Amino acid sequence: IPPEKLIDGKAFAEGLRKQIAAEVQVLRDQHGIQPGLAVVMVGEDPASDVYVRSKCKQTGECGMLSVERRLPADTSENELLLLVEALNKDPAIHGILVQLPLPRHINADRVLNTIVPEKDVDGFHPVNVGLLSTGGQALVPCTPLGCSLLLKDRLGDMSGMNAVVIGRSNIVGKPMAQLLLKENCTVTLAHSRTRDLPAVVKAADIVVAAVGIPEMVKGEWIKDGATVIDVGINRLPGSAEGKSRLVGDVETAEAAKHAAGITPVPGGVGPMTIACLLRNTLTACKRLHGLED
Ligand code: NDP
Repeated sequence: IPPEKLIDGKAFAEGLRKQIAAEVQVLRDQHGIQPGLAVVMVGEDPASDVYVRSKCKQTGECGMLSVERRLPADTSENELLLLVEALNKDPAIHGILVQLPLPRHINADRVLNTIVPEKDVDGFHPVNVGLLSTGGQALVPCTPLGCSLLLKDRLGDMSGMNAVVIGRSNIVGKPMAQLLLKENCTVTLAHSRTRDLPAVVKAADIVVAAVGIPEMVKGEWIKDGATVIDVGINRLPGSAEGKSRLVGDVETAEAAKHAAGITPVPGGVGPMTIACLLRNTLTACKRLHGLED
């Protein structure tokens, strides 16, 4: 990617974390409040383990209280619900995150819906989903929030732009579409049944790809001057030496020939997700204490 076209999520996330750390310091100095994030993990999952570790590390680095609760794989749903309820009531905790996936004997929806919406820093609770779509004070899912911050930084006013979001998951696609609508874009939400996806993408000033298929969005689909946000994280088996590599949902090098700005994978949306989790924890803390956002 030519430097002038690179949307550097890694650098942006670093700046965001510094800003959050400064705000945490002010909260502690002026109000004697320390934001606290609890991350709950059930069982062992190598990928989740990496995420949980880096979430907890970065939480501590910004001066927040980081509480890690690891439960064995055979924890019952009831035990987990009791832990969530205890965290709901804990005044030192402002954000609660239950790492997914949960073991199959646990109903994930029931667990997520038990988190009080005010502490739901993942933004998955139906109350937050509803608030986002009605324009209320929601906690917004971290990945789309990160994409939205990158777009605003790059484009400023997005009013009237054509935006296409490819993928309609509850975690990424749907909330992303809501955020773009809030920015006054004309939004198309594409998915596996969309007809003539290349033509839909060709009409877009903003393309957000969240599909989970390596390089499925072809470079030639991208309109000249468009801005491309690649949410996909796909691990490809490596060469004979066995080193695997990460690719996004977009054919990056080809797309960069047409796009005015594009995120790389890795180093684009990925680092923004955790930074936004910290931001949501800070937001939740301020709101719980009746302070301005
Ligand atoms: P899901 O699998 O939940 O959703 C994928 C979406 O893509 C579905 O809506 C599906 O449509 C759509 N889709 C599938 N095939 C096609 C196709 N051929 N054409 C158009 N649309 C298609 O994925 P997620 O939203 O959870 O994640 C998407 C990607 O983002 C993954 O690569 C994931 O790893 C990554 N990710 C990255 C994060 C980060 O921090 N950077 C965080 C979360 C996810 P339909 O609904 O019709 O089936």
